[in-house]
Formats: sequence, structure tokens, C-alpha cells
Amino acid sequence: MKIRKSPKIQILNRKVYILREYYFNIVKRRMNQKERRKEWRKKNREKCREYSKKYYEKNREKEIKRRMKYYNKEEHRIKMKEWREKNREHIREYERRYRKKYRDRDREKYRKWMKDYRIRIRLQALIHYSGDPPKCVCCSETEIKFLTIDHIHGKGKEHRKLVGVNFYHWLKKNNYPEGYQVLCWNCNLAKALYEICPHQVK
Ligand SMILES: [Zn+2]
Ligand SMILES: [Zn+2]
Repeated sequence: MKIRKSPKIQILNRKVYILREYYFNIVKRRMNQKERRKEWRKKNREKCREYSKKYYEKNREKEIKRRMKYYNKEEHRIKMKEWREKNREHIREYERRYRKKYRDRDREKYRKWMKDYRIRIRLQALIHYSGDPPKCVCCSETEIKFLTIDHIHGKGKEHRKLVGVNFYHWLKKNNYPEGYQVLCWNCNLAKALYEICPHQVK
């Protein structure tokens, strides 16, 4: 014997069915939209970039605030660190490309920036090894242009050759290792030539 559903239930079932269809369609449409948007973004990458740049400039204060809110969260920081470690190659590649672009766009500006950077990390290293303001350990010379980093146990020349042009950058990268001190060029040269600076002999 077949059980017939009451008309009321039939109507209800029909309603549920229509409603389900309706929501399903919405979800489907949204998904399609998402896909399409993604594709569009891929095709118009330059445009998107420009747009977000404009948006950022317009809402600078607000954006900074919003980003800082994320930035201050410990959780976010850990996540970012993990991401950076995972995508190290990608980041390096990106930085290289960015540097090249920046360099090509304005060579004069880049040169100035590099010069400033070199001065800055040199000063940082001097301050780390002798305090602020930096001075020669031997004769207390304080003119920064006269100061240099000295390898306490010698062999500085070979080490510098090994490290390359940017010795100060190397120091910073290696968290300022021990075995270095600040000397002025005079004392540094005297130490190299006579093993002990004349200031110390008297
Ligand atoms: Zn000196
Ligand atoms: Zn000296």
C-alpha cells in the first residue's frame, strides 16, 4: 500500500526544494564570480597593482592603522616568520628583482641610498664595538672618519678579502661577533707594523 503524503507536507517539501535550489544557485554564482575575478586579476595584474597603490595612498592613515593591528599580534608575527622561512628563495628572487628595478629606474638615487646605507652600517658597527660616540680604544680619537674596525688577533687583511667589499655588512649579518675593536687608522697601522702602538709603549 502506498502512503500518500498529505497536501500540506507536499507543499512544504516543494518549498524546501525551491529554497535549497535558490541558495545553491547563490553559492554557485559566488564561486563563479570568485573564479572570474581571480582570472581577471591575473590578466590585469598591472591595473590591480596600480589600483591598490592608489587606494593605499588615499587611505594611508587608515591602512597603516589596520596593518599595525595585525602586525602587533604575536600570532601574526610567528606566522609571518614561518612564511618567510618557507619562501626564502622566492623572497630573495623578489628582492633581487626589486633592487634591479629600483637601480635602473633612478641610478643616482640608488647610488645615494647605497652610500647612506654604507655610512649607516659602518656607524652602527663602530658604536657596537666602542660605545656611543665611538672612539679609538688606544688614543681616544673620536673623529668618525679616522676610525676603523680592528681585528684584535690580526689577520684582518685576509679576512676582509674573504668577506668581500662590505665588511660592515658582514659584521651586522653575523650579529657582531667578538674579536674586534675600534681603532683609529694611526693606531691600527702602528699596531700592524710594530705589533704594539707607540701610545702603549710610553
Ligand atoms: Zn688611535
Ligand atoms: Zn695608539
